[in-house]
Amino acid sequence: MKIAILSQDPSLYSTRRLVEAGEMQGHQIRVINYLRCYMNITSHKPSVVYNGKLLENFDAIIPRIGASRTFYGTAVVRQFEVMGVFSANESQAISRSRDKLRCLQILAREGIGLPVTGFAHATEDIDGLLDTVGGAPVVIKLLEGTQGIGVVLAETTQAAKSVIEAFRGLEANILVQEYIKEAAGSDLRCFVVGGKVIAAMKRQGAEGEFRSNLHRGGKAEKVKLTPEERSTAIRAAKAMGLRVAGVDLLRSNHGPVVMEVNSSPGLEGIEKASGVDVAEKIIEFVAKNAENGATRDRIQ
Ligand code: ADP
Ligand code: GLU
Repeated sequence: MKIAILSQDPSLYSTRRLVEAGEMQGHQIRVINYLRCYMNITSHKPSVVYNGKLLENFDAIIPRIGASRTFYGTAVVRQFEVMGVFSANESQAISRSRDKLRCLQILAREGIGLPVTGFAHATEDIDGLLDTVGGAPVVIKLLEGTQGIGVVLAETTQAAKSVIEAFRGLEANILVQEYIKEAAGSDLRCFVVGGKVIAAMKRQGAEGEFRSNLHRGGKAEKVKLTPEERSTAIRAAKAMGLRVAGVDLLRSNHGPVVMEVNSSPGLEGIEKASGVDVAEKIIEFVAKNAENGATRDRIQ
């Protein structure tokens, strides 16, 4: 099979592992920098051009779109979809997952466990907003943040008000969320491929840090999920329309709650912590599904 990995950098761990696993399974793999793909979107015969040559006869693509490149990246993925090429994750699902607010609204609609979360525009509504989520302590999140940057724990109502006012003063959009203290600075990353959790890890934040992000000095280890955690992760990926997803959960007093669903989850931390060959599982899934023909994303 001919498979393209859409990635900006062939030297990234995740990209290298997918190439390795694909070649091991006898496929022809190419890493394509999607920022250098261009296309005639009005052509009768849709195509993508790369380095002056048409990209033809691909059976599947595996998009690894950087968070800051969602707009162009999903346009390239969409063009491949128009050409009838199977994509590990569809463009629409990738765009959807990049909007934290929309993501939470979709998960809530499906009845999936979430931390109580509020959203407001006007600073006049701060008191009401804090009441909605049960008062301090609360976690305040910049909607545009990633890797734990822009996630703040406000222990008192006064601190919460100051932080919200400061962010809103900068015109930043924020979510205000119930603080899940009992998670004690740890979270669970569940790696979902084709409706199954194929690997999981527990991340623990550095001493005195409530955020468990590896980028913030957290450590990861293998973990055994409960059946409820497993099914929550699977339902969350499905609700988002993602076939490959990294679902982050917190262990709360009211069961597993979803933090976030990532459409280009990194492989390094999870492969090292879980010992699972995640790249192999992704390639197997893509090859099997590309063979059966591309399915269409039906979630709007
Ligand atoms: P990012 O997308 O920037 O990683 P997250 O929303 O995942 O931001 O938050 C980063 C980390 O902060 C989480 O992995 C978790 O450990 C911690 N965290 C986030 N929200 C809460 C919360 N409501 N209660 C407790 N801990 C939280
Ligand atoms: N580094 C990748 C990203 O920022 C993956 C991070 C993750 O799996 O949460 O999209």
